[in-house]
Amino acid sequence: MKKLLLLSLFTIILKPVLGFTILIDPGHGGEDNGAESKIFIKKGKWKPVKEKDIALSLAKKIHYELGKRKFNSYLTRSVDRTVTLAERADLAEKIKADIFISVHVNSSRKNQPRGFETYYLNNHKDSVVKKVEDIENKNLRGEELIINNILMDLVIDRTVKSSKSLAVNVHSEILGLVGKRYRLKDRGVKPGLFYVLALTKRPAILLEVGFLSNSRELRKIMGTTFQKRYARAVAIGIEKYIKKRTKIEPSLL
Ligand SMILES: [Zn+2]
Repeated sequence: MKKLLLLSLFTIILKPVLGFTILIDPGHGGEDNGAESKIFIKKGKWKPVKEKDIALSLAKKIHYELGKRKFNSYLTRSVDRTVTLAERADLAEKIKADIFISVHVNSSRKNQPRGFETYYLNNHKDSVVKKVEDIENKNLRGEELIINNILMDLVIDRTVKSSKSLAVNVHSEILGLVGKRYRLKDRGVKPGLFYVLALTKRPAILLEVGFLSNSRELRKIMGTTFQKRYARAVAIGIEKYIKKRTKIEPSLL
């Protein structure tokens, strides 16, 4: 009996690290550039910047940080290629991902808006949330829209609590390790209705790293040191979420 207890304790402690699979989703890709901007190089010279490239660079670093912590982690794309929302969700199913993290960079028509925010899947609606959703959902095909309308209610009910907890854990690490140091504006943890999150049918969050439409913020986000710190914060947040979850609900293992 004692042996059995020890064995199950051992499983509870080890399983979170060894058994958890995380799918990192760099937003957009291929023919879908996401938001676009440009960065000043020198007098008269500007370099075009695409959201899909920053998202990929950050996602790869998060993938690396999770690997260092012995998590199984995968990327929905590791190169610049087009991946439909359905393909991203299919991969989550195929690898039996426990968590889905979509990485994006925000944009605004005005150049003042700045800051980072973390979304979790919910059907809550307000005008600010709707605006961001429009940008991130704009490449949705009709067929996917129909599937999602059917799935939405079922999925949200099952995952909303876990998704919110994951969002809170990751967001607070970003705030502590990156937000303060780089003087980023904390735009908070918000509910959102993103189809890519709904389709994946598991606890999922969408990160908006900052605004590439704000030139000062874009410069920070493009920095390698910033990206490494950001990736580490996300990985630590995920780790904390998993540890808390497995402590409260060992039956989930
Ligand atoms: Zn995006």
